[in-house]
Parts: sequence; structure tokens; C-alpha cells
Amino acid sequence: MDISVVVPLYNEDESLPELLAWIDRIMQKHSFTYEAILVDDGSKDNSWDIINQLQTTYPAVRGIKFRRNYGKSAALFCGFEAAKGDVVITMDADLQDSPDEIPELYRMVKEENYDIVSGWKQKRYDPITKTIPSKFFNRTARAVSGIRLHDFNCGLKAYNCKVVKSIEVYGEMHRYIPILAKEAGFTRIGEKIVQHQERKYGVTKFGLSRFVNGFLDLLSISFMTRFGKKPMHFFGLLGSLMFVIGFLSSAWIGFQKIYSMSKGEMAPLVTDSPYFFIALATMVIGTQLFLTGFIAELVSRSSSERNTYQIEKEI
Ligand code: UDP
Ligand code: MG
Repeated sequence: MDISVVVPLYNEDESLPELLAWIDRIMQKHSFTYEAILVDDGSKDNSWDIINQLQTTYPAVRGIKFRRNYGKSAALFCGFEAAKGDVVITMDADLQDSPDEIPELYRMVKEENYDIVSGWKQKRYDPITKTIPSKFFNRTARAVSGIRLHDFNCGLKAYNCKVVKSIEVYGEMHRYIPILAKEAGFTRIGEKIVQHQERKYGVTKFGLSRFVNGFLDLLSISFMTRFGKKPMHFFGLLGSLMFVIGFLSSAWIGFQKIYSMSKGEMAPLVTDSPYFFIALATMVIGTQLFLTGFIAELVSRSSSERNTYQIEKEI
């Protein structure tokens, strides 16, 4: 099978018939063999009934229904597990992503050997409250990951099937799939400018919380990719730094005391010196950082993933 189209959806019943007709038209035109995996993320509207109807019209349709709403990442994860095509293409259900892009995305993965091709909504039809934070967010993600993409969170992406079988999307990490892929060793990451439409039916499923959560997830993911398997290198470094500051401050206090005594003056009380408090605080914090480091090492040692590696080839 050439292509698996994975579509996560939550309350998108109005868009589905149009979306499927469009996808099918493109697939027939280019004679691709394909499947469309519609993952219903616990919709409360008629999405699931529509998927059932569509399945009778288009045999390429496969459906997965969650019992409740788990989020877009969960939906993508299950879609990826089920996908059987050589190239896996994800797109949103709301008709904001255009199926017209499929043939070119497929070609880039198949012929130009990209591991991932990410869409870039260069001209966006979204409210300004979304586009401006998104610029900032993409810039940060670029700096943190070193991946030169303009639009990390574009729903329209194409993958070599190997990629989707080797990464685990969880939480709200769908925003950072290219970073997860890079961490798994897939470095040929390309970009294609794609057409973007205004949302035709329904409403967006992510509120303002997306910016706070997106930013926090970025922090976690950059920490995890660098120190996930060696947390002590992070906590231990900070802890040692704290101790160095603490020791230097204590030494300075001691030196002051001995110096004034050698001159026969009344030695100042150590608690009169600001260095006393600096020494106290940094040593307490340093100890806590080291303890956190040890606990993190224990956690990572008991993780079932501790010896999971991506093997590319064997002879
Ligand atoms: N989606 C989902 N589960 C959720 C939220 C969203 O499967 O909990 C789907 C949604 O139906 C759509 C895609 O993820 O197909 C992108 O969502 P949306 O269009 O609301 O995001 P936006 O375009 O506003 O970033
Ligand atoms: Mg949308």
C-alpha cells in the first residue's frame, strides 16, 4: 500500500464527507493505493456515524473510536500504530489542510528520501491571537532543537512509515513530532509550503491554554532529549555550582574573621555578613539538587525504556 492518511478528529462531523471525497478524488487521480484511518477522539457529535457511512462508500476508510477524548497526540499515536502504508500522511479533519498536497508530499518522502516532510502554512488563515504567539513559539522550538522548520505544529505532515513506528507521541507532544523523530535518529527533515484554508465548519479545539502548555512541553522535551538518560549530569552540575558558591562564601567569611582577629580587632559576627546567607542558601539548594539527581537516576534506571535503542541495520 502506498499511503496511509491518518486523520485525528474530535467533533468534526460536518467536515468529514467533504474531506473524504476530496482525499479519494486525489488518490484515484494519481492511482495511489491508500487507506484513510479516521481516529475519532471521543467525539460527542455524529462523527462516528458519519465514519460508518463513509466506510460503505469508500472501502479505504478505517475507523478507530476512543471511548473518551484523549487528545490529538493519543489519536495520532493509535493511527500510527494501525498504519500499513509506505508513506504516512497526517492531516487535520477540519479542511484547513488541503489533500491536494498529498502527491507532492508522497513524492518527497518516496523519491527524495525524506524521513519527514512537514507542511509550512506560510500564508495562514487564522486569527492574529494565534499567528503571533506561534511565530515566537516556532523560533524557540528551532533554537532548542536545531531543526530548521518554520511551522512545527502543522497538522499536515508526511512520514516514512519507519518513523511513525519508531516514535511514541504522548501527552501533547504532537506539536514536537519532528523533535521526537530527530531524537530517534531520523534527521532528514524537510519542509513544504502548503495551502491553508480558513476553518469551514465547527470551532478550534485548542484554547489559549495551548501556548502555556506548548511552552512547558518544549521545556520538558528539550530536557528529556538531552538529559533523559543521564539526569545526574544536569542536577549534579547545578548542585556542584551551588556548592562551589557556598564554599567560597564560607571561606570568605572565615578569612574576614581571621584577618580582623590577627589585627587584634573585635571579630564581626558571621551572621552580619551577607555571605553567610548566601552560603547557607546555596548549600541547602545544592544538597536538594543532588538528591533530586539521585532520585532521577533511580527513576531512569527503572524505566522500561532504559535500554531501548533504534537499530537501523544489522548483518
Ligand atoms: N483534535 C483531536 N482531539 C482533540 C483536539 C483536536 O483529535 O482533543 C483534532 C481536531 O478534530 C482536528 C485537529 O485535531 O482535526 C486539529 O485541531 P484544531 O483544528 O482544533 O486545531 P487548530 O487548527 O485550531 O490548531
Ligand atoms: Mg484547525
